[in-house]
Amino acid sequence: MPEFLSPDLQAFRDRVATLARDTLTGLRDDPQLAPSVRTQRVRDASQAAGIYTLTQVRDTPALTMLVVRDTLASHGVGSLRGLFGEEAGVLEGVGEPLRTTHLLPLLAGDKRTGFAFTEPADAPRPTWARVDGDELVINGRKSYVTGGLDASFLAALVEVDGEGPAMVIIDTDRPGVSIERRFESLDGSHHAAFRFDDVRVPKHHAIGAPGQGRTRALARISEVRRALAADCVGTAAWIIDLVAESLRRPRRGGVPADSERIRLRYGEMRIDAYAARSMVYRTARLTDAGHDTVNESIASKVFATEVAGKIADSAVQLVGGEALVVGHPLEAAIRRLRTLRLAEGETDTLRVNVSRGHLDLGKGRI
Ligand SMILES: Cc1cc2nc3c(=O)[nH]c(=O)nc-3n(C[C@H](O)[C@H](O)[C@H](O)COP(=O)(O)OP(=O)(O)OC[C@H]3O[C@@H](n4cnc5c(N)ncnc54)[C@H](O)[C@@H]3O)c2cc1C
Repeated sequence: MPEFLSPDLQAFRDRVATLARDTLTGLRDDPQLAPSVRTQRVRDASQAAGIYTLTQVRDTPALTMLVVRDTLASHGVGSLRGLFGEEAGVLEGVGEPLRTTHLLPLLAGDKRTGFAFTEPADAPRPTWARVDGDELVINGRKSYVTGGLDASFLAALVEVDGEGPAMVIIDTDRPGVSIERRFESLDGSHHAAFRFDDVRVPKHHAIGAPGQGRTRALARISEVRRALAADCVGTAAWIIDLVAESLRRPRRGGVPADSERIRLRYGEMRIDAYAARSMVYRTARLTDAGHDTVNESIASKVFATEVAGKIADSAVQLVGGEALVVGHPLEAAIRRLRTLRLAEGETDTLRVNVSRGHLDLGKGRI
């Protein structure tokens, strides 16, 4: 529950809310700001408030991250660029030489990375590597790497012959790495599809024990799924506030908030948001208590993204055509939220994973 936070966390939440209200909304809405200047100002403000590095340190509790993301999103500023520092991701805890060559430059903002997990539907086999002395020789394709165009290196899931799946660091300037396609998705984010033809990387670029790549990737994915769920419950609250404001404004024929038909829809939005928010907070608390929350993180991600999408859709219906005018806050929200039911795991695939978690592995709570 968002209630029963420690006094310290309550105070932190209030500081984040003040930052969102007093600084970030202004930066979001200033049409004169160039995108790079906006990002820099957001970064400066976030650093000054002690938010920026939360994603970079290993011991930030899941509940703290949730409170921050929920609070930012409930003020409509959760998706601003520059709020959070680059995360270690699969490089978390990595030893030398990768620590010096990749992890530290990544955390310092000197290098960028992309997460290469998804294969194109027509790939004959998942991206694979053979071992050749001290090197891995990689072949294959990855289809949807967010930020891939600017990435100095990829963290890619690769099937290593005889060893199993590994997360492998592939520098994008290596011979044999090429970009097959660059594209933008509905939410305005940029992606690249990569091809690997006999790309040679040092064997130590495979992170962790042989065969543990998928587990390592999944540990990271659970974190990202919880982050998306947090953003969705905050965004849902923000949308619900926008709708309430709109419903109270008199229109031709009366005040919409007085209509029972409208109240029915609005009540449904609130009930869905309440369920999603409760779920996401429970999952964060279980995570901080040291439980395995792979299934609960999946459940939160699926439910929160579906609920936020449904709420945004109903909101447009209640506010009316004005909400679809390009530049209206709901128009941007609906585009962004729609992508989240595919990113970091497609909804139906994840539902099947939760079933597998319980039926085959005896995991997961209700
Ligand atoms: C905004 C955005 C950002 C993304 N960023 C990244 C990224 O940085 N890195 C990355 O690796 N990926 C990224 N992705 C890709 C994302 O992870 C995939 O889109 C997602 O996993 C679904 O894969 P897919 O698009 O190939 O669809 P599919 O897996 O082909 O799914 C399409 C439909 O087919 C169904 N389906 C699939 N397989 C079967 C089957 N065997 N039987 C029955 N039904 C099936 C699914 O349930 C679904 O309904 C991103 C996607 C988006 C939208």
